[in-house]
Amino acid sequence: MKHFLVIGGGFAGVEAAIKLRKRGYKVTLVSDRDYLFIYPISIWIPVKGISFDDSTLPLAKLQKKHGFDVIISAVKSIDSENKKVILENGEQSYDYLFIALGMEKVQMKGAENTLSICGKPEQAVSIGDKLDKLIRNGKGKISVGFGGNPKDTKGSAVRGGPAFELLFNMSTYIKKKGLADKFELNFFAPMAEPGKKMGEKAFGNLGKFFKHYRIKQYVGKKITGFTPIEVLFEDGSKLKSDLIVYIAGGQGHSVLKDSGLPLSEAGFVKTLPTCQVEGHPEIFAIGDSAELLGPKWAAKQGHVAEIMADVAAYNAHQQIVGSGKTKSYVEKLNIICVMDSGDGAAYVSRTTKKETMIMLPIIGHWLKKGWGFYFKNSKLKLIPRIPGM
Ligand SMILES: Cc1cc2nc3c(=O)[nH]c(=O)nc-3n(C[C@H](O)[C@H](O)[C@H](O)COP(=O)(O)OP(=O)(O)OC[C@H]3O[C@@H](n4cnc5c(N)ncnc54)[C@H](O)[C@@H]3O)c2cc1C
Repeated sequence: MKHFLVIGGGFAGVEAAIKLRKRGYKVTLVSDRDYLFIYPISIWIPVKGISFDDSTLPLAKLQKKHGFDVIISAVKSIDSENKKVILENGEQSYDYLFIALGMEKVQMKGAENTLSICGKPEQAVSIGDKLDKLIRNGKGKISVGFGGNPKDTKGSAVRGGPAFELLFNMSTYIKKKGLADKFELNFFAPMAEPGKKMGEKAFGNLGKFFKHYRIKQYVGKKITGFTPIEVLFEDGSKLKSDLIVYIAGGQGHSVLKDSGLPLSEAGFVKTLPTCQVEGHPEIFAIGDSAELLGPKWAAKQGHVAEIMADVAAYNAHQQIVGSGKTKSYVEKLNIICVMDSGDGAAYVSRTTKKETMIMLPIIGHWLKKGWGFYFKNSKLKLIPRIPGM
């Protein structure tokens, strides 16, 4: 029986492991964390809407349900020539390799003075601790922003949505504490029109959100670095802040650098629309690790990672059985996001044909919370094996 090695235990890796098990293959999943971190709901950790544990799904539970092996270890390198992966504690060989390591962030001068909601999961807790310290002091200046990666020409590795959601949620949280007049909330980004990827409709409405949640904007100015109390801009101006949250632009995972696999300029694995790595029929790259093909507005998202995992599992299987059939993830690409504000939400979607934005009152917030429960439960449901396997 073919052995599939899946490296990475996030959205893409877990979905691939489940779908490959569904087809009856032997699957080993390697992750440096013993849980899947549900990033989309982690925006509520700093404002105490959920606990850290609520935002995690233990890999052991998934292993028990779906029957794949789990190894908790960091991947050090990929030896594609000898079909093996070197781990911190040993090595693993494979017939098929699924790369699902997520992405890393562009390094910025003074980044150690900032926290990120899109980095190490524990940082979500640190943001909450700092926020609460300011609340205890009765006042504060908070700046939240994001940047890009000039080498990522399509901008698909810009992660802007969580910055907006975090700011809106912080505003709601501070208002509930009766301190709205004592806090200054700022948004910063180097792009002239941050958020435009979501579509004209959503972008056009962002200004209303900023006004409603009392957020000042500092956009269109290159960020040159950070001090413990300032965001520094290219024109010499500074934004004084007691708490800086910065989501840097994404770049390919460092493990991929010496893998010999084809990489984009930004370091993402180059694949065919089937998710197969160019020139390596037995290797698939899925989720944030892969260079995103398709329209310029496409964005690396959790549900996109899952679509890629599903498509890759299908294509690997068809290759093994020699059916000649293939699927592509590109025509399935879309942007779907429920942009939460703690007291409501906006449903945003974009396809090649249509852009939608629907303002939702408090029900929108509870819908997104409900999605978190659904996500966990759906992953722990046993999917019947495909007959004839
Ligand atoms: C705050 C936030 C909010 C978001 N909100 C949304 C949303 O509302 N909707 C949406 O669709 N998307 C959202 N996203 C994007 C979505 O979370 C990502 O696109 C998705 O997590 C990508 O899945 P992935 O499996 O490719 O990467 P990840 O989820 O990052 O998983 C990568 C995995 O690889 C593991 N790993 C990394 N390095 C190593 C190593 N060396 N060795 C072993 N294992 C390793 C990690 O531990 C992790 O398990 C959000 C992201 C963030 C950060």
